[in-house]
Amino acid sequence: MPIPLQKLFTYKITEAEADFIEIGTRVAVPFGKSKIYTAVVFEKHNEEPTAYEAKEIYQILDEYPIVTKLQLDQWEWISSYYMCSLGDVLRASLPKAFLLESETLVLKRTDFDREEILNDEEYLIWEALEQESKLKIHDISKILDKKGVLSVINGLLAKDAIEVKEEIFEQYRPKYVKYADLTSRYQSEQELHQLLDGLGRAPKQREILLNFFQLKRGKKEPVLLKELREKSRASSVVIKRLVDKGIFEIIEVREDRVSFETESRPIHELNDWQLDALRKIKGVFKEKEVCLLHGVTSSGKTEIYTHLIADTLKKGKQILYLLPEIALTTHIISRLQLFFGDHISVFHSRYSVDERVEVWNNLLSNSDKAQIILGARSSVLLPFSNLGLIIVDEEHESSFKQFEPAPRYHARDTAILLGKLHNANVVLGSATPSIETFYNVKQNKYGYVRLDRRYGDVMLPEIELVDIKEKHRKKLMKGHFSDRLLKLMEEALLEKEQIILFQNRRGYSPVVECSTCGVAPQCPNCDVSLTYHKFNNELKCHYCGYHQGLPRTCPACENPTLDTKGFGTEQIELELQELFPGSNIARMDLDTTRGKYSYQKLLKSFHEREIDILVGTQMLTKGLDFKNVTLVGVLNADNLLNFPDFRAHERTYQLMVQVSGRAGRDQKRGKVAIQSFNPYHQILQQVTTHDYLGMYEDQMNERHQFSYPPLMRLIRIMLKHKDLIKVDSAANWMGKSLQNSFGDQVLGPTSPSIGRIRNKYIKTMLIKLPANKSLKAPKHLISKIRDSFMSISEFRSVQVIVDVDCY
Ligand code: ADP
Ligand code: ZN
Repeated sequence: MPIPLQKLFTYKITEAEADFIEIGTRVAVPFGKSKIYTAVVFEKHNEEPTAYEAKEIYQILDEYPIVTKLQLDQWEWISSYYMCSLGDVLRASLPKAFLLESETLVLKRTDFDREEILNDEEYLIWEALEQESKLKIHDISKILDKKGVLSVINGLLAKDAIEVKEEIFEQYRPKYVKYADLTSRYQSEQELHQLLDGLGRAPKQREILLNFFQLKRGKKEPVLLKELREKSRASSVVIKRLVDKGIFEIIEVREDRVSFETESRPIHELNDWQLDALRKIKGVFKEKEVCLLHGVTSSGKTEIYTHLIADTLKKGKQILYLLPEIALTTHIISRLQLFFGDHISVFHSRYSVDERVEVWNNLLSNSDKAQIILGARSSVLLPFSNLGLIIVDEEHESSFKQFEPAPRYHARDTAILLGKLHNANVVLGSATPSIETFYNVKQNKYGYVRLDRRYGDVMLPEIELVDIKEKHRKKLMKGHFSDRLLKLMEEALLEKEQIILFQNRRGYSPVVECSTCGVAPQCPNCDVSLTYHKFNNELKCHYCGYHQGLPRTCPACENPTLDTKGFGTEQIELELQELFPGSNIARMDLDTTRGKYSYQKLLKSFHEREIDILVGTQMLTKGLDFKNVTLVGVLNADNLLNFPDFRAHERTYQLMVQVSGRAGRDQKRGKVAIQSFNPYHQILQQVTTHDYLGMYEDQMNERHQFSYPPLMRLIRIMLKHKDLIKVDSAANWMGKSLQNSFGDQVLGPTSPSIGRIRNKYIKTMLIKLPANKSLKAPKHLISKIRDSFMSISEFRSVQVIVDVDCY
């Protein structure tokens, strides 16, 4: 059932139904007093439940299973590993359109003529039905202005005045595309000439026709109506006139929403280093399921993937290519499309419900179009039927982990399990592998292949640290730019080369503070300061979306001395416009990339060199491949290093190396300037020397010393409630119970650094468990504690979130 309950429910079916229903088909079932849910058949059996009487199902919704057996195995694993319900996994996996909505319809019986026996309420409904012919339950609630209307409906039923119908609406609508073509009347040259002459006095219609001929030239197929309209700038009215005259006919064709041109170029030949890596990867797969490909940025990892993909295609097996970010999918898809044409389907959350249903169905039927699935996190939940290869690109990326809502799964780890289920090979690729993956290599769990040369022997960029403490002292800063960074930028611009600037925060300035009294305006719903956005002169909360105009005076002391502190991408963009008035400057962050195609547009114009300087957040560090970028600037590395998290140093290393990797991907050696108040910090030094192993050793020492993953496992328990006192006492109860079972392996309860979000107070507890022991027993204990907690009436309204591997 698509509900967050741990249990499976048993329903009654007839023998005939039992023959028909297969595991993985959907059925509509009654639940509770009046609800209908779409459930998925998990098991067929002969045991009557003892605790309740099994109800009958309403309806079988599929002719064939839409969920595979392997998927159900995967769901069970996710549910038990990440401590969530099967229903949570079902909801996350199935496209929304598969979870049908139930709407009970009430219809009038035409043979009923004894209105006098109806009571007042019944009569009201009867009367309404004369007008409407059918009503839904909530319409009836509205008419009677009350909630419990089932008794009224039952009364009407008993008196044979109405009938009810359960109608389940399929939400998926196939897409139809309209084409225009000439009717059969106009086929010969002569007829066409006559036609054109005849339209002499209708210039608009004539023009449409001429445009039609141009579009049609040499093609058999009809012309896309949309294209025709755009080309001739004609309104649909004019086109309709041509249809009415019997000149055009409009043809509707059902089409898959996402289709790509077939275009198959041979894949690139690999150079010696790449060939060697490919051979080693294949060698690893003879012994192990998982292989880490540790290749420096621009070494051609993607090219190696294409070879693995081509091999797998030849064997007739499916490929899953996981990417951390949607921005990347557009970039990589255009590369892969060149080779694999329409064997590729793309799947991610910005696709509409209907588009997702199509990918799902194509995969189930092992259609030619869905041999390669390119997608973000959730595509690991798709119904693969014959998977041969999984690629997890940029495996170190934190966006593979889902934090909200349940299931709180990690797509890389789930992909490794998926690989096991299908007996498929898994490649994890990265220039900066996560500590836990590299640890698994050291433990001999994963194979390891290294690629140290950039393609074309382009050198790794030269990385320079700029001490901005010093620069401030010597007054060599202009806004947030040191004289050194400015000089490098001028040089690059002079050569007509492009520049990428990285700043970790969006908005204009993270904090607005009163210089008289020191108060910073806070979000009313969350315990964070509001971020200033200059563009619309607003203060915004990045946690809940709350916003207000920037007040003129300080809300506390009423002096007009609200000042901006710190800085974000928006401020950098504005400073740039003053510093480089002749250059084209653009910004790439969450605020500028909300629309479905906005990423694509930005990247395209950067690619076409319409933009000289691109400033952005994390988003632009990932895998982008632009030949003409020779300079990368990091405005401030310190706020990353100082982030209060055990992975802050690892993440800083990864981010700095990744963003540096955007520089100099062609012949000329790239340059990177990292500005910092702390240029002697060990991590920054390791970045400049590309010293991954040194970084790994240091970090492992720290993890060892302070008991953190990968040496320990972390499970976080989070409680949330509007009432601070309630959440406090709940956390006390929970903390004590956990300590009873786990002793000093429990940290907390504490308030996280942001103690309130969206008006809810938060308390967290962290359980550290040894990584080399099974988690089964501890998880079982935690589940039991969670169950007893939820059975305490006082705590029933407290939200409990369990997050396994919460990092
Ligand atoms: P990575 O994924 O390791 O960052 P890419 O696969 O993006 O590296 O390769 C970097 C650039 O070099 C790309 O533009 C890619 O097309 C090019 N390249 C790499 N290997 C080859 C090859 N064998 N043949 C042609 N071009 C290649
Ligand atoms: Zn807020």
